[in-house]
Amino acid sequence: MTDPDLLIIGGGIAGLAAARTARNLGLGVTLADDRPAVGGNILAGVGGNVPDKASAIVRRGAALIEAASKIDLRSGTQALRIDADLTTQLVTGAAPVETLHPKRLLLATGALERPVPLKGGTLPGVMMAGAAQLLLKTSGALPTGRTILAGSGPLLYLVAKQMISAGVTPAALVETTPRQSLRDGLAGIVAARHAPEMLWQGAAMLLALRRAGVPWYRQASELTVLGEERAEGLRFRDAQGVPQKLRADLILLHDGVIPNDHATRSLGCAEIWHDGRQAYQPQADLWGETRLPGVFVAGDCAGVTGAAAAEQAGILAALQIAYQLGQIDAARRDALACSPRRILKRQTAFRPFLEARYPPRLSVPAALDDAVIVCRCENVTAGALRAAIRHGATGADQLKSFTRCGMGRCQGRSCALAMTGLIASETGTAMNDLRRQSVRAPLKPVPLGQIAGLPAMEEGA
Ligand SMILES: Cc1cc2nc3c(=O)[nH]c(=O)nc-3n(C[C@H](O)[C@H](O)[C@H](O)COP(=O)(O)OP(=O)(O)OC[C@H]3O[C@@H](n4cnc5c(N)ncnc54)[C@H](O)[C@@H]3O)c2cc1C
Repeated sequence: MTDPDLLIIGGGIAGLAAARTARNLGLGVTLADDRPAVGGNILAGVGGNVPDKASAIVRRGAALIEAASKIDLRSGTQALRIDADLTTQLVTGAAPVETLHPKRLLLATGALERPVPLKGGTLPGVMMAGAAQLLLKTSGALPTGRTILAGSGPLLYLVAKQMISAGVTPAALVETTPRQSLRDGLAGIVAARHAPEMLWQGAAMLLALRRAGVPWYRQASELTVLGEERAEGLRFRDAQGVPQKLRADLILLHDGVIPNDHATRSLGCAEIWHDGRQAYQPQADLWGETRLPGVFVAGDCAGVTGAAAAEQAGILAALQIAYQLGQIDAARRDALACSPRRILKRQTAFRPFLEARYPPRLSVPAALDDAVIVCRCENVTAGALRAAIRHGATGADQLKSFTRCGMGRCQGRSCALAMTGLIASETGTAMNDLRRQSVRAPLKPVPLGQIAGLPAMEEGA
């Protein structure tokens, strides 16, 4: 197989938009996405069960998916290992590992829901709201029994609205979002002048919840999932501090989303802590090129800014790559970049309002009870992590060796952020000054046989 000019990892809206632009400019493009069908999170299930099919972003996304049939498209393919010289190992199902040497690499690996360590949160019957949404979109699966949505962020309203439209009304919405002052409300209206459609979408979601008569608890705190063998209910304090207990068969949690930066971290790309987004993100220039030459990032993995912004960031990265590879000159690149830059500016201008309005509340490390399980793969509690930090394990890798936190199947995707947050709160260090847990290949679990089959292993390297 010939090596592509551009290898894109991640077939969400950012990766797909980059692929179409790059191909139209004459580049050879390979796109790998680990799901059975491309589309990423917002376009999951397009053509099937996806709700809100009429929305502009979903329509544009469907066109991008169609255009992707013209490139070397690998769905069900995951990036196993990426080296700084861009050599990338891909694996599809049980097939032998394939090695590519692209001229440029674009990581468009999207976002993950912010993991929520919560008392009782590892019981069966608790899952993330976005995961339930993906099941709805990709297979039409709907929650049964009394379902409570809990946490904070617009995705919570969206999932509730989509459930209602599909005929299942949530038993309650338990929101941890802080009280909105008149000043916050005005700030929202001012911010919305950049992207008024966001305000309308938000209003439509809230209206759907009100119309359906969903019991709505605001400014909730001290959430605990109740149950022994499985989730049976949710306990919390309401806005007045009064204890509440609700019966539930299924609890869907959400506390915002964070960049899926596993691949960039494995490459050692420099990262910064974004205070507003309460997350780390790779450092990149205006075209998305990281501090590692030839490695680009676009979309939510570069910093969560939403689907419309992800699309434009993908286009910008492709333009710069086409320029670097001699397909277009600087004048054409800059002319083609005008419109994406304008849209991107508008979309990102609205984000600070959303970030301030919906701060993560369920997952604040300093507030975690010692008994809460932080690393669900290895069953490591916040108390065990705090004890190890007090014994001197103040580096993330050291803490991992001391406690096994982050050593399990998810390789730290679910616990690394809370673990770093605990080090920060226990030692009084700023998040930006902490070195994060190292990420090593394989980026996602694969059968040992596939690794054993690698040529380098046969040579004993
Ligand atoms: C669970 C979830 C649900 C969401 N639902 C909505 C919604 O309904 N509406 C909305 O406006 N926004 C939603 N968002 C936010 C939205 O996903 C993003 O703003 C937008 O989709 C970002 O596009 P993207 O291309 O950057 O990434 P994504 O759309 O996330 O696409 C990234 C793709 O990369 C793939 N990938 C990751 N790692 C690898 C690897 N190692 N190898 C191969 N492939 C890989 C992923 O499987 C995924 O298909 C959701 C976010 C999450 C996490």
